[in-house]
Amino acid sequence: MRLLLLLLTLAFSVHAAEQKPNIVVIVADDLGYADVTFNPQHPKEIVTPNLDSLAKAGVICRQGYVTGHVCSPTRAGLMLGRYQQRLGLYTGGEAGSGVPMSEKLFPQYLKPAGYATGQFGKWHLGPDLAWSPALRGFDEVFGFLGRGAHDYFKLDDPNDPIYRGKEVVKETGYLTDRLGEETAAFITKHKAGPFFAYLAFNAVHAPLQAPEDEIAKFNTGNKDRDARLAMGKRMDDAIGKVMTALKDGGVWENTLLFFISDNGGPLAQSADNTPLRGGKHTDYEGGIRVPFLICWPSQLKPGEWLSPVSSLDILPTALAAAGIATPAEMRLDGQNLLPLLKGETQPQSRDFFWCSGSDEGWWAVRSGDWKLVGEKDKLGLFDLSKDVSEANDLAKQMPEKVAELTKLHDAWLADMAKPVKAGEKRYDATATGEENPEKKRRRTKRRSSDPAPQR
Ligand code: CA
Repeated sequence: MRLLLLLLTLAFSVHAAEQKPNIVVIVADDLGYADVTFNPQHPKEIVTPNLDSLAKAGVICRQGYVTGHVCSPTRAGLMLGRYQQRLGLYTGGEAGSGVPMSEKLFPQYLKPAGYATGQFGKWHLGPDLAWSPALRGFDEVFGFLGRGAHDYFKLDDPNDPIYRGKEVVKETGYLTDRLGEETAAFITKHKAGPFFAYLAFNAVHAPLQAPEDEIAKFNTGNKDRDARLAMGKRMDDAIGKVMTALKDGGVWENTLLFFISDNGGPLAQSADNTPLRGGKHTDYEGGIRVPFLICWPSQLKPGEWLSPVSSLDILPTALAAAGIATPAEMRLDGQNLLPLLKGETQPQSRDFFWCSGSDEGWWAVRSGDWKLVGEKDKLGLFDLSKDVSEANDLAKQMPEKVAELTKLHDAWLADMAKPVKAGEKRYDATATGEENPEKKRRRTKRRSSDPAPQR
């Protein structure tokens, strides 16, 4: 009897070791760095208990970056595992117009390894069905194409349809709830595993819409803020449903889950990125450093991770977890974080790059703790180890550091493709000569709205 038990235990252990982990990637939209309770300087009115329990079970990355300061560039980089600029995708307009169909995306690595794949929510990597995630490695799809926003209540609008697979469906309900339910149902259906679920919320992106009774729970004195918080609360509820499905399905322990926002919170819509400077549409930390969690209960000890990581690391980390070799010719730009998070290796200094092309004019590079940010001809140099709020510009004092980081960024940019739509890779003051008055007006307007560090 004892021998039988031992054999059974051994057989079970071998099976568990062989069982590939499920992968879940959850992307919030425009969520502020401080608009989650797991980040330290959140305002008291924030309610995200499910994200908080996810954070307690996982690794909170305090310096988690995305590759874009707006929606679709980041989402393109995430699905490609490569800087989206390699394909000439610099702006929201460019990435939103479509990632070339010849490119291999995240699910296309996992599907051949036996993964059931599902995409839920916002795609934003191509305007219509020709670019559908259903054609790009996802077995099951529930969500919308087209632009980055969708009405949260009107789910039967033929002009902005919800698709199941490639079919238009008429839905009712609140979109964020529906995305949570669909993802939970997918998990339950495929609990025998392995599965890959990509839950890409459009919450808490505009329009600022939530059920009235949810909004009424908040009373900040700012109606936009109340709606935004209600949307965040509802997204947190949906994440709770996904976590429950994982636990009830018995797959919680062996699921590797990532949570990020696609860019920083928009300050004009009352998001809170404290203590970071700026927000969406900028390359200050508030635009590109986001809430970032990694959770794999059976493998990763919960805690905080203080070294910088990137949304580009998600694909190589998932592939390593799944035991899938990464072909060298794919040139994935991120790194497998598992050896670091397990304490098997020590963090090395890394370089991170941002660029939104000459028309927008934003670019940035981080090397070690130094960050250089450019907005057209305005430059800022910051030591993030002492100045996370980018309040103390050292560019004038340290021209040699500015030159060094500019050179580093130039070398990276030389490897990237030209913007597919218009303009050059980076703004060049000397190349434009006299600025036309309209451009100057827009630039001045943006500068005057360029926020000082918040709170
Ligand atoms: Ca976004």
